[in-house]
Amino acid sequence: MSAGTLFVVATPIGNLADASPRSLEALRAADLIACEDTRTTRTLLARHGISAQVIAVHEHNEMAAAAGLIDALRQGRNVALVTDAGTPGVSDPGALLVAEAHRAGIKVSPLPGPSAAAAAFSVSGFAADGFLFAGFLPSTSAARRKALETLDLPFPVILYEAPHRILETLTDLAARFGPEREIVIARELTKKFEEVARLPLGAAQRWLLADPHRQQGEFVLVLAPGEAKPATALDAERTLGALLEFLAPSEAAKIAARLTGQPRRLLYRKALERAK
Ligand code: SAM
Repeated sequence: MSAGTLFVVATPIGNLADASPRSLEALRAADLIACEDTRTTRTLLARHGISAQVIAVHEHNEMAAAAGLIDALRQGRNVALVTDAGTPGVSDPGALLVAEAHRAGIKVSPLPGPSAAAAAFSVSGFAADGFLFAGFLPSTSAARRKALETLDLPFPVILYEAPHRILETLTDLAARFGPEREIVIARELTKKFEEVARLPLGAAQRWLLADPHRQQGEFVLVLAPGEAKPATALDAERTLGALLEFLAPSEAAKIAARLTGQPRRLLYRKALERAK
């Protein structure tokens, strides 16, 4: 008997009409549907007249549920994996089941569709060859500020945020990246009260507080890219630091300037500052 296929199916992030015909076909044809919350998935299935066996797979039972589903796949049954909204595995459960399926030699097939991260990025207008999807920041403010230290990058950074933390997070972002850096706030995408605002971080809190409803709903933030640090400037500082361990400032500056092409005077001044 040949094994079944694990279909990883994206579902709408708000507007149920965003379910693709192919995703609905996969859900209709599946022997089992693994989902996060059975009530949410049953609502989607009911809307499209799909009756299928649904099994809850969430962070608390992922291991045990995955084992059962791998057995079913081995016995030739087809399984569709969905989450409450969007693409499974994107800040959502699913990775463990998918990894187990790969390990068991079971075919894994995606049915691509909505994801809040891609939707928000598409309306950001930040030109970039790449982006970093950083998901949810830590919930405590100290850990969040520490995480932001690592996110000053020369390409856009996409973040998910919960409504009760959105104000705090925008405050921390403005403190870390300055009032001029732009941010896109994508709220309630594909839903009735959808809003997309692109504005400087210095104006973001005012925007959020301008309407009492704005701190409700679901949010994606897209932070504009920072300045790319010229590699030579960075290398020059490193080279200078290493040389200063063995040489006097004037000697170190002269050699660092020759190696990196940076002005000797500038490096000499930096060397003296370091020596203070
Ligand atoms: N797997 C989902 C995806 O592919 O986008 C994300 C799941 S994650 C648990 C839920 C978070 O995604 C929300 O807290 C919010 O940050 C973001 N999100 C989901 N739907 C959204 C929507 N319609 N508008 C804005 N953000 C949304």
